[in-house]
Amino acid sequence: MKPGTTIALEARLVREVLNHFERDAVALVIALRHAEGPLRSTGAGQGGGSNSDVSDPTGTAALRGDPARQDRERVERLLAEMRGKALELNTLRVRWLEDSSPEGAGEGEAGCASCERVGKWSPIRKTVGFPDGSTHPLCLWCLRQVRKTGALPTRALVERHAQGLRCG
Ligand SMILES: [Zn+2]
Repeated sequence: MKPGTTIALEARLVREVLNHFERDAVALVIALRHAEGPLRSTGAGQGGGSNSDVSDPTGTAALRGDPARQDRERVERLLAEMRGKALELNTLRVRWLEDSSPEGAGEGEAGCASCERVGKWSPIRKTVGFPDGSTHPLCLWCLRQVRKTGALPTRALVERHAQGLRCG
């Protein structure tokens, strides 16, 4: 097997799992919430009679924990972790495959003034004059934003772009 094949298969596996998850995420969380017992406060003495779990009057289930709640919390935690990892992967993809150069590549060389605001170095495409008389050297992406809106992209937008998120 070529070394790239395993990576491609792994990426496909992740995509397929996440495709299913995207479709089912809300249903899953609703199902788990539905399966959760009523919120138990810290006191074990007030075992609710409304709970169908009457075979457990001493509340050992509460000590063991509510499996549905534990699984819901696990789903939420895993999703948050995957979100972080997805952003990390995207940052690497953008760093090496898109118009920004690898970190350090622009050392000593002037870069896009707009990207510089968020600590990102991007190669200059064009220096643009603004109505207030200022000029800014800009990368292709920031240049496109200026052409679209007439103003520099906000720092927040540049940050989103640097993380590889879609920003319109
Ligand atoms: Zn830029």
